[in-house]
This record gives sequence, structure tokens and C-alpha cells, in this order.
Amino acid sequence: MPELVLEKPAETSPFELTENPCIVCAPLGATLAFSGIRKGMTLLHGSQGCATYIRRYMISHFREPLDAGSSSFTEDTAVFGGKQNLRTAWLNMVQQYQPDCIGVATTCLAETIGEDAAAIQSMLADLVGKDAPLLASVSTASYSGDQNKGFRDALRALVQAACPAGSDTANAARSTADAAIGTPSPNPLLAVFPAMLSPADLRWLKTTIQLFKLEAVLVSDYSDTLDGGPWMDGSLLPKGGTAVADLRRLKSANASLELGDKLDAVRTGSGYLERTFGVPAHRVSLPVGVEATDRFLKILSEISNLSLPKELLAERSRLLDSYIDAHKILSGKRVVLYGDRDQVAALKAFCDEIGLIVLAADTETRDFATLERKVQESSAKAGTPQLLIGNSKGFKTAKKWNIPLVRLGFPIHDRFGGQRLCCLGYSGTQILFDRIVNALLEKTQEDSDVGYTYY
Ligand code: SF4
Repeated sequence: MPELVLEKPAETSPFELTENPCIVCAPLGATLAFSGIRKGMTLLHGSQGCATYIRRYMISHFREPLDAGSSSFTEDTAVFGGKQNLRTAWLNMVQQYQPDCIGVATTCLAETIGEDAAAIQSMLADLVGKDAPLLASVSTASYSGDQNKGFRDALRALVQAACPAGSDTANAARSTADAAIGTPSPNPLLAVFPAMLSPADLRWLKTTIQLFKLEAVLVSDYSDTLDGGPWMDGSLLPKGGTAVADLRRLKSANASLELGDKLDAVRTGSGYLERTFGVPAHRVSLPVGVEATDRFLKILSEISNLSLPKELLAERSRLLDSYIDAHKILSGKRVVLYGDRDQVAALKAFCDEIGLIVLAADTETRDFATLERKVQESSAKAGTPQLLIGNSKGFKTAKKWNIPLVRLGFPIHDRFGGQRLCCLGYSGTQILFDRIVNALLEKTQEDSDVGYTYY
């Protein structure tokens, strides 16, 4: 019998392993988008591990229950295809939850064997129809994009499913839907496509748009579904969210407004409504900081033909005053930004506005070890970082560098209230600005032998 020779283990792994990622995967972004539809659910097409990871991340950030289905791939499904599993999962979800909408998002494995959004439509074709839940399907292999892409593509898939090309004429659709939801609004209808914001920022968006006497339909609105009150009546799905009937009205919207950085019209929901139904599209970066909020409000003002409400002008004035008060604390401090690309782009502009020096504004690097190396290489010239702003995954880096971390974005796992962090508008910027200033003050105070008490 030949002697068994054990190979010496390789010193480096042949696999590309990502530990402690700065960004999260695409189907998570899609799940967040589908969570904002009233009686909406997500069905993740692929292995159970992906669904468990996504549920765990979202529950620990939002601290709300989240049911998401899985087509639960096994070894043979991975070889022979997941059609039957997908159909079984769909039927189970319909039977047990009676949802109004099911968003199907693929995972890496399903995409690798060719079961993408188009394949899903055909696999479920005979199960969807007049009385079935709305089906929105989206391709979300994580090797082709991050959470931001998954979120954005899911918003487009929702509006495409609710307002297919060639559907009813605009006015007929609007009056039917108004009857369905009960309260017709006389105000111009605005289709709003937000970014991956906190529920608190979504609430700010809705309140601000109302100030301009516009009726906003958010695609999508998880401000209640993922940050609501206790469930007292034993329901299986959370209250709140955008009704499917409202989604169907968006073909007749007076305008659309999409928030984000360098948005590609071809891939966005606002682009779809514009191309298919002639709805005028406005795309704007996240309103963080004075300049960006001015730009955002100017668009609302133009759409509504109303000038800026007095309360917003007062908030703007207070924010400017605080910029003046804190300039000596902030000026020239070096900051590293990371995470979701819409948030990082907005924060970069905001940091420039308040006098911080941005050493890195990273949206591409997958893990913190690589990000740390990049920043250390560049800090020989520019100086070492003094502040981190991003999700709670940066905690270890902040600890290693002995600098403060201002937590913002997703996920916030190691603090309470991540779902209520604000950064939008003059008021949200004010909250963020105060947090940044205080984080720097606290660090100075901790490091001082004499213990400053006045600043
Ligand atoms: S396999 Fe792909 S979809 Fe699943 S958790 Fe990992 S990155 Fe996300």
C-alpha cells in the first residue's frame, strides 16, 4: 500500500478572503429596499447562509423583526437549478404571510448558475397574476456590486414591476389608485427614490417635502417598517411602508427626485419613469451640509413653485452660526471616510465645507486591513488621521489608531439607535456636526493631563 504523503499547508490562502468588510453585499441592499413596501417581503434565491447573514445584520442594526424567505439551495440544487425550490418558497410565503409584494433577490450562487432576474420572472410566470403579490426581481450577485447597487437596482425593479411599460394611461391609473388607498391628494405627486438612509432621515425627507405642499411617494419607505412601535396585534408583517397601489400611481407623477452620487440614469428608477412615462427626473446628492441642502431645497422649490419655508431658513442660520463657533476645533483636522458611496460622497463635500482635510473617502476597498494600509501609505505626506466617520465596522481601526469614530450609515451593531441617526438637511447636518465636534473635543480632553473644561 503506498504511503500517504500529506502536503505541506500553503502559507497563504489560495482564496481571496474578506475579513471585517467596509461595505456589505448586494442582496442586503435589495432586502432593505423591499422592506419599505407595505406588506412587502424579500425572497432570497440561493443558499440559506446568505439569508441568515442578511437577516442578522439588519435585525441587529434596526432592532426590529425581519422575515425574509430563502429558496434554500442544497448541493443538488446548485448543480441542477433552483426552480422548484424557488416556487415552493414563493407558495409558502404567499400562503403564510399573504404579502402584497415579494421582491426576489439573487445571491452569488444562484447568479453563478445563471438564475438571474430574467430567469426568475420566467420560473414564476404562471404563479404571478392579477391576485398574486407584485413580483419585483433583481440580480444581486455580490461579485458584481455592493449594497448600494443592490438597493438602487431593487428600487428600479419595484417601479418597473408596478408600472410596466405599456400599462394604463396615466390619469386613469391615478384615479383608480386614489380610490384604492382612500385619500386623493390635490398636491403634485413626487416619486422619491432615496438612498440607503436611516429611517430617521427618511422621515426628514417626507416632512420636508410636505412643507413644499408636494405629495411624496417614497420608493421605498422603511421609516416605519424598520423603526416602528411594538407589535401588539400578533401580525406577521410590520405596519407602514409604501402601498403597492401608490407605486402604481408613479407613472403619472408630476416629477421624480432621486438622491445619490453620480447616478446613472439608465439604471435608476427615476430614469425608468422618465424614459417610459415622460416623468421629469431630478437627481441630486444627499443633502448633507449647507451647500448640498441648498441645492436639494432649490429643486423642491422649483417643482412646487414655493419659496423656502421660514423654519428651514432659521435652521440654516443656526447651522452657519455653529460652523463659525467651531471652526477653531475643526479646521485642518484629518479625517478618513468609508462605506456606502452615496454617504461617503456627501460626507466628503460636507467635510470640505467645514474645514476638515479628507485623507481618504473610500467606497471601493472591501476590508479594513487594506484600507488601513492605503491610509498609512498616504499619511507619510498628509499626516496621520485624527477622525474616522463611517459604520461601526471601523471600530477596530479607530481603536488601533487611537482616534474617535463617529458612527454613521449601515451597519451600526455596537451602539444603540443606529436607525435614528440623522444627517440630512440643515437639522440633520446640525446633529452630525455637533457629534463630530464633540468627538474631537472628547479626544483632546481625554489626552490632556490638565483636563480642559472650557473650549
Ligand atoms: S455568498 Fe454572496 S450573496 Fe451570499 S452572503 Fe456572501 S457575498 Fe452575500
